[in-house]
Amino acid sequence: MAVRETEPTERTKRLLFGSATHGGFSSCPEPLIYQYDGLLKINVDVAHIRSGRDDGPRYVEGYDRVRELENLLLLCRKHHRLVDDHPDDF
Ligand SMILES: [Zn+2]
Repeated sequence: MAVRETEPTERTKRLLFGSATHGGFSSCPEPLIYQYDGLLKINVDVAHIRSGRDDGPRYVEGYDRVRELENLLLLCRKHHRLVDDHPDDF
């Protein structure tokens, strides 16, 4: 199994959050951040459109921009799982 570095850089993460007002799944009602017991919690994952793993969702051999902004979006955990568990639908 081929494994590539998939973790975006801190700069890329900041750009992703900096331009976001909500998760990338249309009509998702989940906030980006919620407050729990006085703490602010991040409510989204940095999700990959094309996986960096050859057994992962939407993997494209030779695609070398796995960690770049163009391949990333913010998704709440529920929608992240939905999208990755059904790659043929998304
Ligand atoms: Zn969502």
